[in-house]
Amino acid sequence: MKAGVLALQGAFREHAEALDALGVDVVEVRRPQHLSGLDAVFLPGGESTTIDKLLDTSGLRDPLDGALRGGLAAFATCAGLILLATEVVGGRDDRAPLSFLDCTVVRNGYGRQRESFEAALEVDGLAGGPFPGVFIRAPVVSRVGRGVDVLAVHDGAPVLLRRGRIWASSFHPELSGDLRLHQWFLGSIDRERTVA
Ligand code: GLN
Repeated sequence: MKAGVLALQGAFREHAEALDALGVDVVEVRRPQHLSGLDAVFLPGGESTTIDKLLDTSGLRDPLDGALRGGLAAFATCAGLILLATEVVGGRDDRAPLSFLDCTVVRNGYGRQRESFEAALEVDGLAGGPFPGVFIRAPVVSRVGRGVDVLAVHDGAPVLLRRGRIWASSFHPELSGDLRLHQWFLGSIDRERTVA
């Protein structure tokens, strides 16, 4: 299993460490050629406007968009979710860079007093008890399109979404010290690979 982590800005090292701990071959994706041969790509948290700009300067925007449209599995966290959402409220120009997952997100939507917090999340289908959700200036998901599954909700807002091979969370599983979501996501791809 070979997984890429978009390494333009933000919390990419933490994803790489989590994947490394799971025995996955990790590639830091900085250039279009780093996308070749990947089974999955992780889009990390960070500053979505900065990552958006760096998608252009690195030449990655079109190749990444093409790879996702071609069926590359992805797990997007926080700013990564903002990159994939079809609608962004409070974005630089209210347009999502990759526009791939049908949902609306409100940037920094959890408000000032709760910009960062932790919450125990009940995740549908995840064994082993609640998942420690680490939220850092996270986007609030205010709308989810048809065909997008909601796997966890916090305070009435979806926080973990899945549509086929695309998973996205408004929290940071890579910062929680709990590898179950990375494991589950990778396991689901691996099973598809075995079946295919
Ligand atoms: N607030 C950041 C943004 O809007 C996302 C925060 C994060 O990824 N932890 O880009």
